[in-house]
Amino acid sequence: ESKQRLKDSPLEEEPGSLSPLKPDAASIASSIKYHAEFTAPFSPDQFELPKAFFATAQSVRDALIINWNATYDYCEKLNVKQAYYLSMEFLQGRALLNAIGNLELTGAYAEALSKLGHDLENVAAQEADAALGNGGLGRLASCFLDSLATLNYPAWGYGLRYRYGLFKQRITKDGQEEVAESWLEMGNPWEVVRNDVSYPVKFYGKVVSGSDGKRRWIGGEDIRAVAFDVPIPGYKTKNTINLRLWSTKVLSEEFDLSAFNAGEHTKANEALSNAEKICYILYPGDESIEGKILRLKQQYTLCSASLQDIIARFEKLSGKHVNWEDFPEKVAVQMNDTHPTLCIPELMRILMDVKGLSWKEAWNITRRTVAYTNHTVLPEALEKWSLELMQKLLPRHVEIIEMIDEELVGTIIAECGTENPGLLEKKLKEMRILENVDLPPAFAELIKPEEDPVASSEKEPETSKELDINLEDEPHNLQAQENNEELPEPEPEPPKMVRMANLCVVCSHAVNGVAEIHSEIVKKEVFHEFFKLWPEKFQNKTNGVTPRRWIPFCNPELSKIITRWIGTEDWILHTDKLAELRKFADNEDLQTQWRAAKRSNKMKVVRFLKEKTGYVVSPDAMFDIQVKRIHEYKRQLLNILGIVYRYKKMKAMNSAERTAKFVPRVCIFGGKAFATYVQAKRIVKFITDVAATINHDPEIGNLLKVIFVPDYNVSVAELLIPASELSQHISTAGMEASGTSNMKFAMNGCVLIGTLDGANVEIRQEVGEDNFFLFGAQAHEIAGLRKERAEGKFVPDPRFEEVKAFVKSGVFGPYNYDELIESLEGNEGFGRGDYFLVGKDFPSYIECQEEVDEAYRDEKRWTRMSILNTAGSHKFSSDRTIHEYARDIWNIAPVGVP
Ligand code: PLP
Repeated sequence: ESKQRLKDSPLEEEPGSLSPLKPDAASIASSIKYHAEFTAPFSPDQFELPKAFFATAQSVRDALIINWNATYDYCEKLNVKQAYYLSMEFLQGRALLNAIGNLELTGAYAEALSKLGHDLENVAAQEADAALGNGGLGRLASCFLDSLATLNYPAWGYGLRYRYGLFKQRITKDGQEEVAESWLEMGNPWEVVRNDVSYPVKFYGKVVSGSDGKRRWIGGEDIRAVAFDVPIPGYKTKNTINLRLWSTKVLSEEFDLSAFNAGEHTKANEALSNAEKICYILYPGDESIEGKILRLKQQYTLCSASLQDIIARFEKLSGKHVNWEDFPEKVAVQMNDTHPTLCIPELMRILMDVKGLSWKEAWNITRRTVAYTNHTVLPEALEKWSLELMQKLLPRHVEIIEMIDEELVGTIIAECGTENPGLLEKKLKEMRILENVDLPPAFAELIKPEEDPVASSEKEPETSKELDINLEDEPHNLQAQENNEELPEPEPEPPKMVRMANLCVVCSHAVNGVAEIHSEIVKKEVFHEFFKLWPEKFQNKTNGVTPRRWIPFCNPELSKIITRWIGTEDWILHTDKLAELRKFADNEDLQTQWRAAKRSNKMKVVRFLKEKTGYVVSPDAMFDIQVKRIHEYKRQLLNILGIVYRYKKMKAMNSAERTAKFVPRVCIFGGKAFATYVQAKRIVKFITDVAATINHDPEIGNLLKVIFVPDYNVSVAELLIPASELSQHISTAGMEASGTSNMKFAMNGCVLIGTLDGANVEIRQEVGEDNFFLFGAQAHEIAGLRKERAEGKFVPDPRFEEVKAFVKSGVFGPYNYDELIESLEGNEGFGRGDYFLVGKDFPSYIECQEEVDEAYRDEKRWTRMSILNTAGSHKFSSDRTIHEYARDIWNIAPVGVP
């Protein structure tokens, strides 16, 4: 760390604020100095790295604020339609290099900092990652903000300001350990608190009818949501949009002064802590009822505060005469997955109960305003809430949801008719928003099946009350009573639930999947009945990633080469120009430069791995990387079992044979397992145990190294992706909605090994079949394969059996891996039966890995494949995705801020 003292800095300029014109290094240095003296929350007499970062970020923020205000004013003046992207997650990562990159001030800031005795890279490394998200979904939201700003679209992001981001992952001898991530501890230089922008948010209470016949939600618990704004700059544009994050607090009146004075400190603070804990953490564990309530409160806070804010803006811009019919002409609300579903009943509630609109008017406005992006096809991952819990917390919203459900039932009956009660019942069961809830009485009568007098007398009793009585009358139960045996317990009633995805589909004007294959599954399977009813709602919007962060900012060396060969840096905005690299794919000069850039990125990772894990790896080995959340469907288990197979084969050979057969590899894993996901945590532990054994085996040396990188996050991704040569996207086909890291790897000249799943399908199409290592079962085969397995007809490959036996033999240490291996065995049952088909795909996976080795040995062929991956990745810019959302769903147009 530099011991640089501010007053000693050899700077001639006086401290000052940043010039709004494009500043030079001298004026930047003076602005950094100003912030170091006057605004950075550190002691005055030092200028070490943390303070240097803070002062630098504050200086950048000055530049952003100028553009930000101009954007805000301009959009207000034009009063154009705006898109509002609501997401419980934004995985922003670090902001400094991104901001100065977008402002085209990287060189000037580097020079300014060097005048002050600091190095930009070291200063930037001080910044804590803003990890307000888990993985792909949150990172997508952040990429979208970058594209929205860059393309000059009038748009806002809305989220929550969690005090603790996604946990920090430590790897210990027991596997993963979670530690709270206090990213705000040193302050967040990017945010601006808006104490004047705050809204009340209510929970609990009851609903009453007013004298005007209107429903009123009264009583309960009131808190306030306060806005914290984060400027999001576009690249090479003045347009700077806003990410508004809500934090929660109580009003000072709620503080119980008399209780505090009486020494009851905890009681006095109760309201405060109840309000503040809403924004403590991302994804509070929801095993407990308290955890569930907190999560629902978070979702409602996001929806309620954001909608009140959007409505307030609409009213302000409408002037004296608010025409609510115009609301959807000015506002597009996009729900990133089902987490912001409560937007729907909240908008209805405000329009009806607060603004006095009729049900019909409110419904029309809501439906034209909101749109929904689906991110999962796993039925167990579709969000549901207990009706009872929701009724307690949000009684008015449940009334509205019940009404929407009732209207839906009417629509379904009208469409389907009542002639075929079996079919109708099936449709209702699949499509209704309320699950396990009786039909509204009017409809129950209508679809009652015709009673057959004989059958009806033999009919099974339906309610548990009837059941008790009838059971007692049964002779065998009388017998049981006489014998003092316990009567069979009546079946518990299935819980009444609210299906958020169904609510979204019913109320949105557009429903989109995030890759072509996923959108097809959405239409043909998950929401098939809805698709038949409203085919026009369903769309595909293949995900994308921002090329700025994921090529030039994280991989400047490769970017210089791209620019040199294409002849312009326009490709950063118009990624289709990357395709021009195709014609040079075999050029030896380009190939040499391309390899040099990759090697330089690999060297950075070599240093990073040594520092983080102590392992020293060879930059001559192939860097084979799988980084993503740890999940059974993503199949890190398939990867590590493939490594175990490779290791076993190596051990059976002599040194010469080994070297001839295998390409040296560094296999890198990274990713967090959800804290309560036992099997995922076991997989982490297994990877680290395999790594410890292989890495310390002197016979193997540099031929194979396995590294688990702790605490995978956006910054780590920015380091690993440019250095990767092979990257693994090997989910069970049909289970990954899209994936976005696959796009980032391809952009950085990395060859993918993968299944035909999510966006892999489109990446393979774009980069060419020869430049993608494909293996495994396809989505349409999965159901049949599972059935085959359940019927005990699946015959595992002997190589798979061999690997499992090897693991069970205890080579990887004393930890008992029986349960992990057993999940891959048997036919069916919880945690058994290889639901994710690791065994089925294992043979084709290891055979494909042999092809990878062969291709890598041919340096020219591999470099060509690498270049063609970058060249073919242009479709996966989030600029393309955002243009499609803007055109097909939001109906917004760019506004160039003058
Ligand atoms: N986590 C982080 C930190 C990321 O940066 C990304 C994407 O780049 C993801 C998760 C999503 O990865 P995947 O698409 O492989 O699931």
